[in-house]
Amino acid sequence: MDCIFCKIINKEIPSVFLYEDDMVVAFKDINPQAPVHFLIIPKEHIESNDDINDENSHIIAHVFKIAKKLAKENGLESGYRIVNNCKEDGGQTVNHIHFHVLGGRQMLWPPG
Ligand code: 5GP
Ligand code: ZN
Repeated sequence: MDCIFCKIINKEIPSVFLYEDDMVVAFKDINPQAPVHFLIIPKEHIESNDDINDENSHIIAHVFKIAKKLAKENGLESGYRIVNNCKEDGGQTVNHIHFHVLGGRQMLWPPG
């Protein structure tokens, strides 16, 4: 499958991994928008938030648990933001669901 995030999972494309288990991987975003910016993705190729269902939602719950663990390990005790861009209007550019974890600076609202 021609998916860059599946290729990152399979280590066909190099990236800086922060975490891996049987369900998810986390790696640094190549174009960071904050001092700390990494992505958590399921190993299963789920396209977007619109493809979450009863069979795979436990993986998404796991993503959030790992986000908390990695935020702590990366010095984000004072807070962080988790972002999922869904499909075209949401600004999704890679069609393998991913959760941005951003921190190390004051995040702004509205996000634009
Ligand atoms: P989206 O805009 O779909 O929510 O986010 C996609 C993110 O993936 C962007 O922040 C972009 O910088 C990141 N990204 C795209 N290609 C690569 C890559 O090959 N390696 C890494 N580490 N990040 C990537
Ligand atoms: Zn994929």
